[in-house]
Amino acid sequence: MKFEMPQLNYGIDALEPAISQRTIEFHFGKHLSTYVNNLNNLIPNTPFENASLETIIKNADGAIFNNGAQVWNHTFYFNSFSPKGTKVLADELSAKINEQFGDFENFKKEFGNAAVSIFGSGWAWLVKDGAGKLSIRKESNAGNPLRDGFEPLLVFDVWEHAYYLDYQNKRADHINALWNIVDWNVVAARYSK
Ligand code: MN
Repeated sequence: MKFEMPQLNYGIDALEPAISQRTIEFHFGKHLSTYVNNLNNLIPNTPFENASLETIIKNADGAIFNNGAQVWNHTFYFNSFSPKGTKVLADELSAKINEQFGDFENFKKEFGNAAVSIFGSGWAWLVKDGAGKLSIRKESNAGNPLRDGFEPLLVFDVWEHAYYLDYQNKRADHINALWNIVDWNVVAARYSK
């Protein structure tokens, strides 16, 4: 299987100031495309030559896992935003967030604390388990919770390449800005799936 670049659902300058056009040009246009190219170069003549990304994430190790997971993680990440964001309203997911985290503000605080406290490169995830219970998970490097049987709902990329051009060392400020562009319709649909 030949993996291809995903499409963005918004213009390259549409997420400013949370994610600038310049960051999209490098992060989407160069980093993600490198992961796609690397994966396509790595899989021929391996057991993963015709595998899905999900199969690669659950079963591969080393460079094939790293590049396959980074393709999946970034595709999921870039699909989680819209220029004006959306409010969480009366849907199944927001009821669950209120039940488990007290209220939405507290959920954002806990998720943000997780994202800020990841040491080095990684990803902060909101996931659900098989019973629909939510949890926040911190993953290093290319880590993806599918590998541990969780269903991803939302992810923030905390690799420096995700924010350094815009926010330099201020990871927390970038994370606070991301809340303005999260497309909760997308996240809620993932939860209800
Ligand atoms: Mn990234």
